[in-house]
Amino acid sequence: MFSDLIKFIRQIYNTEDFLPLHEPVFFGNEKKYLNECIDSTFVSSVGKFVDRFEDMVAKYTGAKYAIATVNGTAALHIALQLVGVDKKSEVITQPLSFVATCNAISYCGAKPVFIDVDRDTMGLSPKYLLKFLKEQTVQRADGCYNKITGKRISAVLPMHTFGHPCRIDEIAAICDEYNIVLIEDAAESLGSFYKNKHTGTFGRIAAFSFNGNKTITTGGGGMIVTDDQTLAKRAKHITTTAKLPHSFEYDHDEIGYNYRLPNLNAALGCAQMETLEFILQNKRELALAYEKFFEGRKVDFVKETENSKANYWLNAIILTSNEERDRFLKSTNEAGIMTRPIWRLMNRLEMFKSCQTDELTNAYWLEERVVNIPSGVRL
Ligand SMILES: *Cc1c(COP(=O)(O)O)cnc(C)c1O
Repeated sequence: MFSDLIKFIRQIYNTEDFLPLHEPVFFGNEKKYLNECIDSTFVSSVGKFVDRFEDMVAKYTGAKYAIATVNGTAALHIALQLVGVDKKSEVITQPLSFVATCNAISYCGAKPVFIDVDRDTMGLSPKYLLKFLKEQTVQRADGCYNKITGKRISAVLPMHTFGHPCRIDEIAAICDEYNIVLIEDAAESLGSFYKNKHTGTFGRIAAFSFNGNKTITTGGGGMIVTDDQTLAKRAKHITTTAKLPHSFEYDHDEIGYNYRLPNLNAALGCAQMETLEFILQNKRELALAYEKFFEGRKVDFVKETENSKANYWLNAIILTSNEERDRFLKSTNEAGIMTRPIWRLMNRLEMFKSCQTDELTNAYWLEERVVNIPSGVRL
């Protein structure tokens, strides 16, 4: 199987060279906008490309407001802080994610609580979320409290793994019922829809990432999206050092952050947004080719689930065992084809070991078997 796949990948990418997992592609107005940006001298955190990039992302996702940040982690950090995640509280999230999700929770002084994922979406499971809330929490006047730790649960933070939407409408309904704010880590899911609604628009606020390995990139960058005007205003204020608008005075009314996206990066982002539809179509065709290849084989190719349209950011396969996974990683990487295991579960990392953990049967099962295979755009 492995040598068949290696041959197949070399064929569809039409190369004998080293093949990375996911390279950015620049074939649009990137250089033009970057030059315009440099010529204007507005290369830093003020400029027309920042506003334009925010408008493009808001329009595309259907969110009312978008606020650009230096990276996706910063976007998550501010999103969490603005809805009241603090050191006296906890945030329910999935153990199967990139470390940035839990880092952002930690920056607010809060502790993650880990609840299992669904096997098919690889995202937070509404079933286990509901079971946990039913059995392990109590409602008080100011919110939902964890019976064991006595702490308030200030948010639920699901993530759309590799661009596959989780069952976000069910999760949203549960959060409503239990009076908990829903925040989406949509870092991996620009271009992914659930029931024709863009991921990141189901909760009160969400974060996207434009890191170099994501579907589109600004070098480094992120975006906060929300429909709430007050939150949007606060997000812009707090990411720009909480400076009060004035033509020459420097006055700040709270501790803010220097988290604003530079215009130079936004210029790249505008050009990348223009190519997004092409990129998504190209990635969908690649995913279909993989799906066909794996048909009738013992290895499962991860497909989009019912009701969802995935961006197929990173293609993933599920191998039959941990041993097979290790053999697969070794033989593909030795053959110059980059493949990568899914993240080590967050509850196993030193800094999050002491956090409360529900039963994580599906997460452990996936951790042992899931591998990403080359997913970059073919030009
Ligand atoms: C990429 C990513 C982020 C944000 O990453 P940055 O590198 O800070 O832009 C957050 N969460 C997840 C799940 C991610 O994959």
